[in-house]
Amino acid sequence: MINPGQTLGLLGGGPLGRMFAQAAQALGYRVHVFEPQVGCPAGAVANEEINARYNNVAALRNFARDCAVVTSEFENIPVESLRAMAAVTQLRPSPDVLHICQRRQREKHWLGQNKFPHAVCAEALDGDVAAAVARVGRPCVVKTADFGRDGQGQMKITDDTDLEQAAAIFRGRHCMVERWVDFACELSVIVARTERGEIRAFPLSENIHARDILDFSIVPARVGAAVAAEAQQLARDIAQKLGVVGLLAVELFLTDRGELLVNELVPRAHNSGHGSVDGCETGQFEQQVRAVCGLPLGPVDVREPTVMVNVLGELWRGGREPDWTPVLAEPKARLQLYGEIEPRPGRKMGHFTVRAAGVESALETARRLKAKLAGEG
Ligand code: AMP
Repeated sequence: MINPGQTLGLLGGGPLGRMFAQAAQALGYRVHVFEPQVGCPAGAVANEEINARYNNVAALRNFARDCAVVTSEFENIPVESLRAMAAVTQLRPSPDVLHICQRRQREKHWLGQNKFPHAVCAEALDGDVAAAVARVGRPCVVKTADFGRDGQGQMKITDDTDLEQAAAIFRGRHCMVERWVDFACELSVIVARTERGEIRAFPLSENIHARDILDFSIVPARVGAAVAAEAQQLARDIAQKLGVVGLLAVELFLTDRGELLVNELVPRAHNSGHGSVDGCETGQFEQQVRAVCGLPLGPVDVREPTVMVNVLGELWRGGREPDWTPVLAEPKARLQLYGEIEPRPGRKMGHFTVRAAGVESALETARRLKAKLAGEG
């Protein structure tokens, strides 16, 4: 067990890292952050910030030496760097887990090998999209093999799509082609697992995207109890099989036919889990601290139905800070800003949550507040 007072290392200094650091410090830990960009959101609250690149093995080793455990808020770190750190201190999740989750084809292959359900898919080497499309069938979606953030680098292929044009766009890039899923909704489950194998799944979140970026997360998801239980069991089984220590977010599609398919595995805290901080007995960041330190996991029951809304850079019109009054004045809303300096369109600058006695009324208030912030209400 890594006790409070010790130093936790964090790879990545973005908003997720900032909230991890805050949760760790609330439990009495020190936090060191490793991040290439100077002036990152997590660095502003961490006890120490180290700025170097993820391929700087010497800097990573030095960083790891000061830490009782190192975890991450970002998984795309060269595996050699991860292994070098794991030789110095405990890395949770392990380099093997992060390696699987770094590439779509490795992840899909692992899911298939272990008989976890996912959409039919095929690899397209060097942008040879046509052959992969022929194997998968239309409609389908071409995705670059490395995880572009939030739907970037993706293209839907229908019967009308000119494949030569599509192939030109992806030429020279390693891609995955996935059968298009007609989904009733998108869901996610965040699971925490400790080294000793204690495992706990957060309540199911229903996720609504706008322009490929998460817009609303609704907890508990508006699905039947059987689907919720099945999704949580699936996520626990995946975490167990993967042997992840820390957090694992399992993104799912619920198809029109009531089938659950895994879309993506994310071995860290997840945007759809932000509502847990206000809405569940234990928030995802505290749970991440507990899991990587080997503390008992916290209870995750829903305290109150909660809706989370992302706050994007678009709201800073002409660079001006939005008027937060509508959210701040709402009794059961809570605003969290990440301290990002530059409000770029599409950048997640913060989020707010709304709690209510029921999901529908939380969603109605969340929609109203979102419109007000955008100057539409
Ligand atoms: P991803 O980057 O794989 O998480 O995909 C981003 C978004 O694209 C998802 O949240 C879905 O809304 C949509 N999407 C991804 N894959 C599929 C698919 N096979 N069928 C339908 N929609 C998809």
